[in-house]
Amino acid sequence: MKIGKLVQALLPKVLEYCEQKNHNEFERLCDADYSKRNFNLNFPFLIPISSLPSDLSKRYWTKVYLVRGQTVRACSQWFEKDAVYFVKYSKRIGIDYDQSQLESESLESRTTLSHKLSAPTARANSRYRGNAIGNAQNLLVRNILSNLGTEQFSEEDWQATKAYFNHQCAYCGESKELVIEHAIPINKVYLGEHRLGNLVPSCRECNSAKASKDFREFLEGRDDKVKAIEFYMDEKNYVPLENNEQVSMILEMAYREVGTVAERYITIINELFVSDDDSCCS
Ligand SMILES: [Zn+2]
Repeated sequence: MKIGKLVQALLPKVLEYCEQKNHNEFERLCDADYSKRNFNLNFPFLIPISSLPSDLSKRYWTKVYLVRGQTVRACSQWFEKDAVYFVKYSKRIGIDYDQSQLESESLESRTTLSHKLSAPTARANSRYRGNAIGNAQNLLVRNILSNLGTEQFSEEDWQATKAYFNHQCAYCGESKELVIEHAIPINKVYLGEHRLGNLVPSCRECNSAKASKDFREFLEGRDDKVKAIEFYMDEKNYVPLENNEQVSMILEMAYREVGTVAERYITIINELFVSDDDSCCS
């Protein structure tokens, strides 16, 4: 296995070590001297994305990890001759691995990741719990996407948007009562935002028929309408976040974290009732 692959395969274990066993280690791995001494790396092994200068971005893998409440990326500048440093380090912090197993595991984790992420709270015995947490998770994602950037969508913007579309539904073209519609839905799949350019007027019928579809999906076959919306987005300098892997990863983390928080409180409250039952029986 190549050193880069090996580092990426063992990285979750290194981060687990920082998270659970050695809290100071995370800070050390973000330090340039420590990274030079322990791995012969010319850059810090880990770097929080908030402090990653854009010119160094190429030296870090794009995948984002959550460790000790921070989103980080890992240095990709490894040389085969220095593999021994990383292997020694892994042993020192107690990571046991077997290369052949590792290769099949990393393949497996890649294929199961999306499944795990989309159903973090599924339990066979949950009533509406899974659904309720799912709603909270989606709301958080919606809230984040709705508050990016600094501009506000004002009443004036809404009037101007309706005027731009001749007071007609952007989808069917009819002049009916119009509601605000997000052409690209605000969710973790499509990454639409609540911004000028993504907000279009829609009649209630189209609004509910479109539901959480993307406008291109909903308008399939009606290219003139798709083009008109795309042109409008361009005109308002709206650059969709879609396919931005880094934003997707971060939102997945936020989504999972809400699931974890909910699970923690469910457990705490359930334990409350377990001890109540015990005390009444004794
Ligand atoms: Zn319509």
